[in-house]
Amino acid sequence: MLKYLVGILISFIALSFIRAVMGIIQKAVVEEVQSAVGGEPAPATPKGGKAATTADTTLRKCVTCATYKPESSMIRYGTGEKSVFFCSAECEKKANS
Ligand SMILES: [Zn+2]
Repeated sequence: MLKYLVGILISFIALSFIRAVMGIIQKAVVEEVQSAVGGEPAPATPKGGKAATTADTTLRKCVTCATYKPESSMIRYGTGEKSVFFCSAECEKKANS
């Protein structure tokens, strides 16, 4: 009976150890891939103070000059699917005039 309990205990310890190791490896691989890609730093380690999300890097079309730019660097009108984007204040003015 005692052997049986010890066996369960050992398998539990082994399992949690394997999980911990797998977690570390997975995290390391993810960070490696992200640094290789060069964009989107992990949320746990923000670089340069700017937390980039996937929405910020989405390319949007300027409605005035049809230039594609990342969403974060564009002037936005509206929300969601109805959003309108301008690449610069100049294009914004052109659209409003
Ligand atoms: Zn434009």
